Amino acid sequence: MKNRRKEIYKAALQKWGIENQLQMLGEESLELSLATRRLYRKGPSEETINEISGEIADTEIMIEQTKMMLEYWSVRKRVGYIKRSKIARLANRLKG
Ligand SMILES: [Mg+2]
Repeated sequence: MKNRRKEIYKAALQKWGIENQLQMLGEESLELSLATRRLYRKGPSEETINEISGEIADTEIMIEQTKMMLEYWSVRKRVGYIKRSKIARLANRLKG
């Protein structure tokens, strides 16, 4: 992760604390979920594409902060490992 971004995330964590940042991860995930439903329901338009883009950005930011907050438990490494294994499983399923 870029140093500047890391500094900003650390400052956010210091200002609001881990509990609030975890709440934000939950809120942003929910907003992404709602934006996904709206895109599906209304179809692609300037409005729905802008909305889902914003919510993807918000969620990614909170995911990055969460990985940083939980670094003591090697969450970034665990996510990387689990992600590789899930993608491999997906590839296997696609083979038929
Ligand atoms: Mg949002």
